[in-house]
Amino acid sequence: MAGGPGRAGSGAAEARPDDTSPGVAILEGVAAELDDVERALQRLDDGSYGRCERCRAPIDDDRLAAHPATRLCGAHALAPPP
Ligand SMILES: [Zn+2]
Repeated sequence: MAGGPGRAGSGAAEARPDDTSPGVAILEGVAAELDDVERALQRLDDGSYGRCERCRAPIDDDRLAAHPATRLCGAHALAPPP
């Protein structure tokens, strides 16, 4: 009968695939938000802050209050990306 210490086998068994970890999804969400904030800061600099990136329409104050870093007007935020 084979038994004993040889059974430990591959160490890979302990490694979990990252895509099953909830932490990764959270980090991806945070990274996307940071990206939005960086863009918002750039637009504050060049004076285009508060305008939709697609149609250049002013974004609603309510929307900006809820999502200060938003890049799209209400209509385009709901529309799928091109
Ligand atoms: Zn728009």
